[in-house]
Amino acid sequence: MSQKIRVGILGATGMVGQNFIRLLDAHPWFEVAYLAASPKSAGMTYFEAVKGRWHMNTMIPESVGNLIVQDAGSVANAKGKCELVFSAVDMEKDAIAAIELEYASAGFAVVSNNSAHRWTPDVPMVIPEINHSHLDIIPLQRKSRGWTKGLLAVKSNCSIQSYMTPLYAILKAGYNVDKMFITTLQALSGAGYPGPSAFDMIDNIIPFIGGEEEKSEKEPLKVLGKIDNGKIVADSSMTITAHCNRVPVINGHTACVSIGFNGAKPELDEVQSLWKSFRSVPQELGLPSAPVQPIIYREENNRPQPSKDRDLDKAMAVVTGRLRKCNLLDFRFVGLHHNTVRGAAGGAILTAELIKAQGYMD
Ligand code: NAP
Repeated sequence: MSQKIRVGILGATGMVGQNFIRLLDAHPWFEVAYLAASPKSAGMTYFEAVKGRWHMNTMIPESVGNLIVQDAGSVANAKGKCELVFSAVDMEKDAIAAIELEYASAGFAVVSNNSAHRWTPDVPMVIPEINHSHLDIIPLQRKSRGWTKGLLAVKSNCSIQSYMTPLYAILKAGYNVDKMFITTLQALSGAGYPGPSAFDMIDNIIPFIGGEEEKSEKEPLKVLGKIDNGKIVADSSMTITAHCNRVPVINGHTACVSIGFNGAKPELDEVQSLWKSFRSVPQELGLPSAPVQPIIYREENNRPQPSKDRDLDKAMAVVTGRLRKCNLLDFRFVGLHHNTVRGAAGGAILTAELIKAQGYMD
């Protein structure tokens, strides 16, 4: 690629925004050219805006640190400065929904981490290894909304990433899973900074994350849905129940999952080999952020573990383990992914790479 695509980050000062900056440093296709956050950060250099709250274990790239942070609410400011915008602002849902549409209608390609548009029928909610074909809706989105260049795609909730690719590998092999019972153990970074207080989290688990169980139960159905008449229609063949817990882990969401089959079911060792051999479009296209092996299986009976496994394959792989029979449903296993990389910034970057590779940013 001769010239890099200029990227803007909305919510650049937050936990996810900082991960975008870290992951986009020296990206072969994209370069960070525009930063925006709340009005209280606007007008400062990025170095000043994140002083005392830079949480990455890398230095702030010099070229980014000297950019002046803009107000994310002002679309006009971004015009001519970038073509692709990653949205990671934390505001009222209606305000996020309106801003993202404003950027897309102004001609920006918008890839969002927020939930505001996940259920907008013509907005694809993409896990690139699974529903890459949902990007086919972009021409219809543009036509019905009168956009020539802009587009809007979103990421799913972070916690579902721990089991969706393993589930999809089984479905793709022709087996029907119609029941899932999930217990998540979700990291602190998923709540943004500073998140829950140390007093609430040390020596403790909080068995509630607002809205998370509903998202875990519904979003997989849209990801597995089909485009029909200009809309993405959710799958309806699966019943999911989820228990979501906040645990004292910095990064890495774990999920303990039981699945039940409708009809034929594979042998346990077949599932393991389906996972190990699973590859998809991001791997075939050689997208820069794609994990080489999207599903890693750990044979040890005490893995996966967040602190030891979350960074595997650029922190973009889903790491599975403990596949065994279930006494209630058919099989059970553990899945883990890095929530602020695969589940947030890295997943959004991979989606943008796919959008670019499919020609929607030309
Ligand atoms: P965060 O650390 O709290 O950061 C929030 C960002 O939003 C900051 O840049 C903040 O700017 C900006 N912001 C706040 N109010 C604003 C306003 N009125 N106008 C413009 N910008 C405003 O949150 P986060 O964890 O990065 O999460 C960001 C979004 O990604 C959320 O919607 C979250 O649900 C989603 N998400 C998070 C994760 C995760 O693992 N953390 C995973 C997936 C999705 P200032 O610094 O100037 O206040």
